[in-house]
Amino acid sequence: MSDQSNLSRRDFLRTAGAIGVGAIGARALLSGTRVFAQGSPTAAGTQPAALTQPVAEDALTVPTRPFGKTGMNVSMLSLGGIFDIPRNQMVLKQAYKWGITYWDTANSYQDGNSEMGIGMYLDANPGHRKNLCLVTKTSTRDSAGISQELQTSLERLKTDHVDMYFIHGVRSPKELAQYGQEWKAWAEKAKAEKKIRFFGFSTHSNMEENLQAAAGLGFIDGIMLSYNFRIMDTDKMKSAVDACVKAGIGLTAMKTQGAKSRRAASQPAGAEEAELAMVERFAKRGFNDHQARLKAIWENPHIASICSQMPNLNILQSNYQAAVDKTSLSRIDKELLRQYAAATCSSYCAGCGNICQDASGGLPIADVMRFLMYHNDYGLTDHARKLFAELPGTVRWQLAQADFSLAQHHCPQGLAIAEMMREAAETLA
Ligand code: SF4
Repeated sequence: MSDQSNLSRRDFLRTAGAIGVGAIGARALLSGTRVFAQGSPTAAGTQPAALTQPVAEDALTVPTRPFGKTGMNVSMLSLGGIFDIPRNQMVLKQAYKWGITYWDTANSYQDGNSEMGIGMYLDANPGHRKNLCLVTKTSTRDSAGISQELQTSLERLKTDHVDMYFIHGVRSPKELAQYGQEWKAWAEKAKAEKKIRFFGFSTHSNMEENLQAAAGLGFIDGIMLSYNFRIMDTDKMKSAVDACVKAGIGLTAMKTQGAKSRRAASQPAGAEEAELAMVERFAKRGFNDHQARLKAIWENPHIASICSQMPNLNILQSNYQAAVDKTSLSRIDKELLRQYAAATCSSYCAGCGNICQDASGGLPIADVMRFLMYHNDYGLTDHARKLFAELPGTVRWQLAQADFSLAQHHCPQGLAIAEMMREAAETLA
């Protein structure tokens, strides 16, 4: 990756200066000093380096981690592809320079523009392909449909293979049981044809159950799952992650900000105070709460990478700085995150899909909560509306009319399901 090491300290300062450097940015700039002061084996002795000493160039690239038993090492920060990539090629260029070489997209993102944007980049930079871990996903389930979508994806991406190919949004172990053998045979053939290197799935609902089931299947190489400070420390999630680690399955975290589905205007009592306490504390520590949420996840060495939507240089820079900065969260930092999670619990859908779905006659409440999150917290309004529009008309109508009292009663997070489904029907229609 020779291009990656070309980012000199001066280049970095120029880039960072142009788009604004926060406190963690200043520390990241000096991360060579910090690493050396902590006795890195690459340091010359144990003496802290002078501030004027040039930062080791490799200190400025995002570290890599092994991805399960695949033998691949992936950058611990991955570029999510839900943005206008054709018009933001600069983001890809800078991500590559900073060593963010694990890129995630899907056949469905931006109506194909996400894959086409990466294809544009590879067209202009063919030498970079070998250094990238490229992931795309299919929303189809049957092998004929999967083959067709993969072919379209390869053409758009301007590549002859992808490093990982995921079935998008697996909902439950039932789905894995239903399609498992078909997917296994499909993956073996696609690997033999060298169209994919590894196979797996992404999941936003019933994640823990899906991970446990995948660990027993024997042909899943990687999983991308919703994983964040709100849900990562439950016994259920820890045991699901352990099962995958034992099975050699590589794990990528997504939805890592633990963003709320509920509108800011209707936050529960105490949420604002908890957020302000957290923000104030992290500001003193030299990072912001978004960076802290990433750091909390990276503390688990079994999470190979965090996939984050970074549609502009500001967010890219902030996440990059969090990845190269060596500061660990303290006990107090973690406690503040925990308190914030508790105070905003009733605004966050934990993706335990079957509970509310079964109690509402099968309505896809967890999916709609996710669309609301895209709209309310990520600013991905077009994406949210597109996903909502893909629901059958009768389902959209029911979401606005149905009685959700039973689902609400059983929701472990205490979400105001009826109010939020009405909100979705109004704002996403
Ligand atoms: S039961 Fe509640 S937390 Fe679980 S998926 Fe449904 S709305 Fe989300």
